[in-house]
Amino acid sequence: MTIHCNYIGGEWREGQGTIANINPSDTNDRIGEYAEASPAQLDEAVAAARQAFPAWSRSGIQSRSELLDRIGQMILDRRAQLGELLAREEGKTLPEATGEVVRAGQIFKFFSGEILQLRGELQPSVRPGLEVSVTREALGVIGLITPWNFPIAIPAWKIAPALAYGNCVVFKPAELVPGSAHALAQIIAEAGVPDGVFNLVMGPGRVIGDALVNHPQVDAISFTGSQNTGRRIAAVAAARLAKVQLEMGGKNPLVVLDDADLDTAVECAVNGAFFSTGQRCTASSRLIVTSGIHDRFVEAVCERMKALVTDHALKAGTHIGPVVDERQLKQDLDYIDIGRGEGATLVCGGERVERETPGFYLTPALFTGTEPQMRINREEIFGPVATVIRADDYEQALALANDTEFGLSAGIVTRSLKHASHFKANAQAGMVMVNVPTAGVDYHVPFGGRKGSSYGAREQGSYAREFYTTVKTAYTLA
Ligand code: NDP
Repeated sequence: MTIHCNYIGGEWREGQGTIANINPSDTNDRIGEYAEASPAQLDEAVAAARQAFPAWSRSGIQSRSELLDRIGQMILDRRAQLGELLAREEGKTLPEATGEVVRAGQIFKFFSGEILQLRGELQPSVRPGLEVSVTREALGVIGLITPWNFPIAIPAWKIAPALAYGNCVVFKPAELVPGSAHALAQIIAEAGVPDGVFNLVMGPGRVIGDALVNHPQVDAISFTGSQNTGRRIAAVAAARLAKVQLEMGGKNPLVVLDDADLDTAVECAVNGAFFSTGQRCTASSRLIVTSGIHDRFVEAVCERMKALVTDHALKAGTHIGPVVDERQLKQDLDYIDIGRGEGATLVCGGERVERETPGFYLTPALFTGTEPQMRINREEIFGPVATVIRADDYEQALALANDTEFGLSAGIVTRSLKHASHFKANAQAGMVMVNVPTAGVDYHVPFGGRKGSSYGAREQGSYAREFYTTVKTAYTLA
């Protein structure tokens, strides 16, 4: 039996046990065994990163840029095999998985160029004879903790800027999807990263993740995952004064106004709510629809949903892959029961179905007649379940859109420039979408939210440097 090892201090190391990687489209398909790092190995990884930091942070932007470019190219060259592995372990469809792999490659390429853009400032001092410079430096050792729903893109958008700006990395992926993380680590190692600069430690969050967050030699933590875990991490990081960045959940609204183009509205809703099996932090889980278009919209969305094929992620023609695992499937089904119990009407889908292979198949579910206070409208379900909330007019729709503790992405479908502009200015979200789905973003601009969705500096694009660098102000007597 091959064990996929952790990568610590430039060596592939077995752990204290193994984690089985199971295909959610076919639970008989065991993808592989992945080494579970011990807490002592986590210490070794942090020590290796600490030791590598002085040389790496001074290594110069040319060599770091070239390394990132090589990594990006290797990811792109292997897109077919990485895409298949990702679809197999996470359950998103093969086109979605391959698209995610390509995105990861593009992100490495972006930061390969971005590091060459790093600028400082040189200013006259308010005191005669002095000169002031403001520059950015690497932070040190950064712990990266990622969720299961984007097994290669989220690691890429944390690892690439961390390395680009001269930091060393200890990366802990979600234990449900170790395959893509391991394949990415292999590429980073093959591309020639110096020993200790990049380390992979697989294992459960409550053990390895917790040890990473608590480690006194880890200068900063970048985390993407659920709000509960994020809160805990923020508290630990604050107590030991470590820099922290959190990207968490969403309960993203898509507002559909009477004047919307119906086809655009349906496309935005179906894509945003159900693609990637609804397992996206930017998913449109609340569809807020004004009365004049409500019935036509619901009818057209249901028609479109009936045409969606829920099946094995690797099968040609599948639109919706399985839910990631049994626990998440149970959570989705529980919320469907909760919605029914709260008096909402399940107008389409929401059934566990069987396919040729044993997997966690759930048809996309749509609730109508929902009220803003229902749990299905307040809590993140993180599955292919969307609700429709009826609104009288734009003003009420906007108020409903903002009536949530989250604030990641918010969308509107309208032909009114006035309402689109007003929504862009007044939606309480980090990202606003006009006539496009709430999910689906570019990689060269900031990603992140407000309120309970995000904490700390933005990720991606040039804004990533806020988190991955620290500022130095130097005074020189000329
Ligand atoms: P979790 O919070 O359960 O896990 C996220 C990561 O944290 C995993 O690697 C997990 O490890 C680890 N972890 C768990 N407990 C701890 C702990 N005590 N200390 C340190 N690390 C820990 O989230 P999910 O994996 O279930 O991911 C789904 C969530 O991610 C959703 O809420 C979704 O909205 C959010 N998300 C947010 C995005 C954003 O950018 N805003 C993007 C994508 C997802 P392990 O799983 O191995 O135990």
